[in-house]
Amino acid sequence: MSNPIGELRPPARLMMTPGPSSMDPRVYRALATPLVGHLDPWFRGCMDETQVLLRQVFQTENRITFPLSASGSGGIEASVLNSLEPGDEAICCVNGMFSQRMYVIAQHTPATLHLVEAPYGKPVDPEDVRKVAKGRKIKMIGLAQGETSSGVVTNIDPFRQVADECGALLVVDAVATLAGVPLNIDKQRVDICFSGSQKALSAPPGMSPITVSPRAEEVFRTRKTKVQSWYFDLSTAMNYWGKDRLYHHTPPISLIYALREAMRIVIEEGLEPRWERHHQNQHALIAGVEALGLKLLVEKPADRLPTVTAVMVPAGIDELKVRNQLLEEFNIEIAGGIGALKGQIWRLGLMGYCSQKQFVLELLGALDKVLVDQGHRHEPGAGVGAAVRYYTQAEVPALTAR
Ligand SMILES: *Cc1c(COP(=O)(O)O)cnc(C)c1O
Repeated sequence: MSNPIGELRPPARLMMTPGPSSMDPRVYRALATPLVGHLDPWFRGCMDETQVLLRQVFQTENRITFPLSASGSGGIEASVLNSLEPGDEAICCVNGMFSQRMYVIAQHTPATLHLVEAPYGKPVDPEDVRKVAKGRKIKMIGLAQGETSSGVVTNIDPFRQVADECGALLVVDAVATLAGVPLNIDKQRVDICFSGSQKALSAPPGMSPITVSPRAEEVFRTRKTKVQSWYFDLSTAMNYWGKDRLYHHTPPISLIYALREAMRIVIEEGLEPRWERHHQNQHALIAGVEALGLKLLVEKPADRLPTVTAVMVPAGIDELKVRNQLLEEFNIEIAGGIGALKGQIWRLGLMGYCSQKQFVLELLGALDKVLVDQGHRHEPGAGVGAAVRYYTQAEVPALTAR
């Protein structure tokens, strides 16, 4: 009998969004290798290797370092729920929708919360956090290194200093930054850090790599109350990812294969060349976008997140029509604004595999054509021209040669 529902044939998109990013063919191949059981002795070795790679990517020796079976939001949930108990006080630094999410999740705990905000497009001022922390016993300070909703990067070091002054754990959302923006967990003494597999790591969505410092582990050990989640209790999850390898839940084995391959690519390239590649390609993209007469949301260059560039939608242009035409005519996906910035910005992602010269030029050329069609006035070709000028003057590393 013929099946009215045909075989799955998704379009081949270039995903220049803030996640998921397009994947290297090597990662697709890993995803299609044979499934084994989660307690298979062979898979134990695969888990060990995954953890070795993850410690390298996070730059840490933390014992608790593994991919949670959850999207990035699960990483927020695990970090916050494991850290906070009744009677605790925490500070959440909010400058956009994703840092806001940590605050929203923390409201599910019995802890007393203090909110320190910054306008969209700017990082939170560590001085404001210091003022709130003064005279208080603070258990946790949480922030997003990369705020994806507005394309802002935050220097985490001053927040570490404030956390030291008040004895708090520093919790960092690195979903949009891990493997794309400089981050060194041990050197910067981040207590709990989590990421998402589908962003600058360019693995499929569904895993949230997390790492926990010995200091945070001790805080977990001395909790007086149970963690408000069985699934995300990091101490029991470590019975599986720790040396005992005891069943906790069935992890997404194929996703672990893919993440392992994605991290092998990261380590082959080297973290520093990879950070440099993201930095340079974003500069080329910005040169192109500005040459098209578009303005950026984030004014200060030092505050711009290398993996996500927020571009203001010019007056008279329909932001959704532009995105739809890019998708239909060029198979390129970009993102719109979310939350308070809905309809006001486009978000161009240069994450992991997508942060390449060829894709920057492709996006700028396509955006140029679409903007002309939508009635925007600029010199056709100006965007690609500016990026080409940038590339001919700067030394921009390519993604691993193979
Ligand atoms: C994408 C993102 C998240 C949420 O990740 P999901 O995988 O969508 O759950 C959280 N924080 C930041 C900074 C992000 O960019």
